[in-house]
Amino acid sequence: MASASGSPVRVRFCPSPTGNPHVGLVRTALFNWAFARHHQGTLVFRIEDTDAARDSEESYEQLLDSMRWLGFDWDEGPEVGGPHAPYRQSQRMDIYRDVAARLLDAGHAYRCYCSQEELDTRREAARAAGRPSGYDGHCRDLTDAQVEEYTSQGREPIVRFRMPDEPITFTDLVRGEITYLPENVPDYGIVRANGAPLYTLVNPVDDAMMEITHVLRGEDLLSSTPRQIALYKALIGLGVAKEIPAFGHLPYVMGEGNKKLSKRDPQSSLNLYRERGFLPEGLLNYLSLLGWSLSADQDVFTIDEMVAAFDVTDVQPNPARFDLKKCEAINADHIRLLEIKDFTERCRPWLKAPAAPWAPEDFDEAKWQAIAPHAQTRLKVLSEITDNVDFLFLPEPVLDEASWTKAMKEGSDALLTTARANLAAADWTSPESLKEAVLAAGETHGLKLGKAQAPVRVAVTGRTVGLPLFESLEVLGKEKALARIDAALARLAA
Ligand code: GLU
Ligand code: ZN
Repeated sequence: MASASGSPVRVRFCPSPTGNPHVGLVRTALFNWAFARHHQGTLVFRIEDTDAARDSEESYEQLLDSMRWLGFDWDEGPEVGGPHAPYRQSQRMDIYRDVAARLLDAGHAYRCYCSQEELDTRREAARAAGRPSGYDGHCRDLTDAQVEEYTSQGREPIVRFRMPDEPITFTDLVRGEITYLPENVPDYGIVRANGAPLYTLVNPVDDAMMEITHVLRGEDLLSSTPRQIALYKALIGLGVAKEIPAFGHLPYVMGEGNKKLSKRDPQSSLNLYRERGFLPEGLLNYLSLLGWSLSADQDVFTIDEMVAAFDVTDVQPNPARFDLKKCEAINADHIRLLEIKDFTERCRPWLKAPAAPWAPEDFDEAKWQAIAPHAQTRLKVLSEITDNVDFLFLPEPVLDEASWTKAMKEGSDALLTTARANLAAADWTSPESLKEAVLAAGETHGLKLGKAQAPVRVAVTGRTVGLPLFESLEVLGKEKALARIDAALARLAA
């Protein structure tokens, strides 16, 4: 796909630098990135940091770090530069001041002197009368005398954009044709009384100057589109813009209870997924399904497969539900897809302090390499590795009381005694042989394998659930395993 005039695709990702991006923002970044890569276009990364009070240097750094962790690259923007630098809006204030002045000169914008109380009063009155309650155009055509009067009163004007008195129609790439009537899109502020330019100005001005061809963003911004189209037309008149971009609005992401997932929802925080050990590729795979799909019968795919297939016109407009269980299941699939060497390395952060409870010198690389393949098939998220392998590196297994009570029944001591004797005689280089030993002990006491292995598992690992038992025993080693069964027998006798 190219833009209307056939020029190559240029899309942008333009977040405000909040330190901890939310998953909706990540999906927007992903769709823009995939769209750019699919069309061999350009992804512009722009930082919308005009809100100085909220935007700190630290959150800017965190944002970049998140983008890198997710594996995104950009063709223009912070660190890589580009022909439209700078890419941080806080460094482009002169540009906005200049454009605002030209919009005023050309009559596309005007100064509005209304106070907040006046606006509120008139809005209430309009509402009561059943008229549209947006700005009423009061200051559109003030006389010089009126302006002088307001100025002498010490009023400080904002700058308002003059909306055309005609409907605005555009074809959204996701939602199809949409028309906004003028009474629903009143004149709007573009510069604050203190001279600070607003999002309503700086975002389309930058899109225009950076020659963005496709604006792909969240549905919450749909209603700003008619304003931006009108502003674009004015910018084209001033020679600042070349053409109006195409717009595509991505569906809302719904969370628990079918409510819009909000930035404040813990479930929406990217850092949370990172800390729990989601793989970027697993998380991105899942997020791509929020509004899009590769095919009806394939939920798990690589990012390259997504890029090859992605088009924004295939995005569905209906709200997408964020399903954590499904997100975890897809992540588990991506964990299984890793090369074993990659898997063992990606687990590293959870194998050392502060995540790991064992002393660093008790960690045993050979044991880790031996158990890793059995863990890889079991994890939903990488952070689960710690609990699954702690029995190998702690001097004593974690004694989980609930597990103990559940597994140690009447007769467990007799079973453990037999199992210990059988295991002592088994071949410890063969998990099959270890299984035979426990199976035989079960038979002696009239227990199926599942019931017979539970006390052994709790004695050796401390927990009722974990990695495949006989492989675990083999990796732990005969001496330690038998000592732990002895310790459990002693505890049962006490
Ligand atoms: N900085 C805006 C936001 O994060 C960008 C909106 C847009 O994509 O137009 O909401
Ligand atoms: Zn006014």
